[in-house]
Amino acid sequence: MPRHIDRHQSDSLHDDLESPADEASYDGLSIELPVSFIEELSASQGIDDLMNVIARWSRVIFRADRVTIALPGADADHLRLVAMEGNDAIPIDMPVPVSGTMVGRVFAQGKAEICPDLSLSDDWDCKILSDKGLKSCLDVPLLSGSRCFGTINIGHCQTYAQDVEDMMRLQGMAHWVATSLRIHHQIMEMQTLADIDPLTGALNRRAFAQEFAALCANRHEDGSGEMAPLGIAMIDLDHFKAINDRHGHAAGDRVLIHVRDALTSNCGERDLIARMGGEEFCVAITGMSKPKMLALLARFTKAIESIYIPEADLNINVTASVGALLVQGGVEDQEQLLSLVDRVMYRAKETGRNRIIFHQ
Ligand code: GH3
Ligand code: MG
Ligand code: MG
Repeated sequence: MPRHIDRHQSDSLHDDLESPADEASYDGLSIELPVSFIEELSASQGIDDLMNVIARWSRVIFRADRVTIALPGADADHLRLVAMEGNDAIPIDMPVPVSGTMVGRVFAQGKAEICPDLSLSDDWDCKILSDKGLKSCLDVPLLSGSRCFGTINIGHCQTYAQDVEDMMRLQGMAHWVATSLRIHHQIMEMQTLADIDPLTGALNRRAFAQEFAALCANRHEDGSGEMAPLGIAMIDLDHFKAINDRHGHAAGDRVLIHVRDALTSNCGERDLIARMGGEEFCVAITGMSKPKMLALLARFTKAIESIYIPEADLNINVTASVGALLVQGGVEDQEQLLSLVDRVMYRAKETGRNRIIFHQ
C-alpha cells in the first residue's frame, strides 16, 4: 500500500472493491504530489514526454511495481502501450487486444477495475502479468467528458495491494491526463484542418511553403561536402475542366485523389506532396540525381494517365504538364524557386501539354 498517501478521511469512502469509484465521493480524499513531479510536468515536451512523466511518477506515488499507459492502437481492436515503468511483463511494443483483456474492458466500458489476485483472472493481460510476478493491478480509464482516451494501469507484486481510495486517486489523476490528451487531440485536429487539403489528403499550399522552408533549411552536406540535390516538380493536369464537364465534378474529384495516390506511392516518406490549388500539385524530393528524377516523373505521368473509377466503372484518360528543376546548392529564395518551376510548367503547357520539361 502507498503509505505516504493521506488516508485520514477514508471512513467516508467505500471500502468494498465491488463499489465503482464514481459512486464514492472525492470529498476529503487527497493525494500527495511531489514538487518534482509538478516541475517535470510543466517542463515536459509534448504528449509522449508527458505520458512518460505521468507513468514514472504514478509508480512513485502509488509505490507500484509496474505502471503502463495504453492509448488506442493502429486498429480499433488493439490498444498500444505508450509509456511503461517498472516490470515489463507485457513489452511496450506489444499491441494489447481490446477483447478478452482487463485493460480493453476498462477502455471500452470507461469503468475502473481492480484485479486483487491476478492468478485467478481469465483475462489475457492479467495472466501475462501474473506469469511475470505481478499479483494485483488497478486499471482506470482516461476519461474526459464522455470520451475515453485510454487507460492507466498500476500493478503490484502483492495481492490486494490497491483499494477503492487508490482507484479514486488514480482516477482523479487520469481525468487530468485525459484532459491533456483531449486538448492534444484538438490541437492535432486543428493542425490537420489548417495543413491538409481535405479532398486529397495532400499538404495545402500554406503548409507546403512552411515544410518546404524547413526542408531547404535542413539539407545537410553529405560526406563529400556536397548538399543533397533538391528536386521540385509542378504538375498540372491537362484540360481538367473538360474532364469535369464530361464526367461530372464527382469523377473529377476522384481523379484528383488518384493523382495524389499516384504521387504518394512513388515518393518517399520525407518527400513533400502538396495540392497547390485546383488541379495543380507540387512535389519536393531530396537526394535524387537528374536521371532518377526524370524516371520518377515519368512514373508519375504514367500512373496518372489511366485512371479507373470502380464506383462508376469508368476509365478516364488524363495527361499532365510537368515543370521540374534540380537544385544542387543552397536555396536562398524559396518563393523565387517555386515561381521558376511554375514558369517551366507553363512552358510545358504552351508547347503542347502532356510533357515533362526539366529546367537546365
Ligand atoms: P489546362 O490544360 O490549361 O491546365 O486546362 P485546365 O482545364 O486543366 O485548366 P483550368 O485552370 O482552365 O481549369 C481547372 C479546372 O479545375 C477548373 C475547375 O473546375 C477544376 N477544379 C478545381 N478544383 C477542383 C476540385 O476540387 N474538384 C474538381 N472536380 N474540379 C476542380
Ligand atoms: Mg490544368
Ligand atoms: Mg491549373
